[in-house]
Amino acid sequence: MYRVDESKCIRCGLCILECPGGAFRGRGEHKVRHSTVYEEVWIDSGRCIECGMCVDEPYWCPASAVYREGTARAEEALGDGAKYARYIYHYDVERDSYFQHSLQQVEEYEPALFERIGSHLAELPWKWVTRLDEDIMPGSQFYIVRWTLPHAEPTQDVGHPPHIHRDAELLFVIGSDPENPQELGAEIEFCLGPELERHIINKTCVIYIPPRFIHGPWRELRTDRPWLFIEVNQGPRHTEKTYNQLLPPEAVERDDNLDIFIDKWPGLPKLSPPSGSEG
Ligand code: SF4
Ligand code: SF4
Repeated sequence: MYRVDESKCIRCGLCILECPGGAFRGRGEHKVRHSTVYEEVWIDSGRCIECGMCVDEPYWCPASAVYREGTARAEEALGDGAKYARYIYHYDVERDSYFQHSLQQVEEYEPALFERIGSHLAELPWKWVTRLDEDIMPGSQFYIVRWTLPHAEPTQDVGHPPHIHRDAELLFVIGSDPENPQELGAEIEFCLGPELERHIINKTCVIYIPPRFIHGPWRELRTDRPWLFIEVNQGPRHTEKTYNQLLPPEAVERDDNLDIFIDKWPGLPKLSPPSGSEG
């Protein structure tokens, strides 16, 4: 049997709209400015199909006012500042497990490559702002935010090679001149599709990447004014499969930094140990 705790209910009526059994009832509907509010909300247990949604899904009831009769109700302390502090995340690149975990396997099998990735990342004119995924914030998708600082020459030879992600991705490229927010103050080379159709990005924009759509190389040619890069991946974790076979063979031969882009894809071996090593 499901009940509404009157002491917690803020009488918004969302449950009346969304209960699949139509079991929530309300009376005294009125407005507080534009907010719809009821004087009283209750459950008609005869209509409840016991789906459990109203209790099991976090914030299905925004006030967590619904409970199962006979079960202990978790009481969280109010007003001590700790209840929702977990939603505010402060990033520290030095302690970011994403970089550490992705590199762990490399360090184990190829210490020289591990060193090279570290020094390559350190050379790039990038300042990490934040990164998030479901491991850090349960329910969150994968995000990265960084600044690119001024540089006169391309930051990489080939750049981030052609690749796909399992989930859709949005790439926000944002200039930092508040008087001219559409001006990027930078030039980026970005290729799209298996044909590697070449585009030059020099304006603030957002780029939509469908799931499994080949994109790259991405190469930052020059930056006159810092710009912000925000990657929003619509999946809970980062996935990537590279397509170096689409690049000119001489570029693959020439650019050793292509080794630092390691596939992360469910089912694919992450990195093979060099021949002769165990495991
Ligand atoms: S959704 Fe929750 S807070 Fe809103 S009326 Fe229903 S029980 Fe009350
Ligand atoms: S258990 Fe399901 S049907 Fe019953 S009140 Fe909750 S949401 Fe409605």
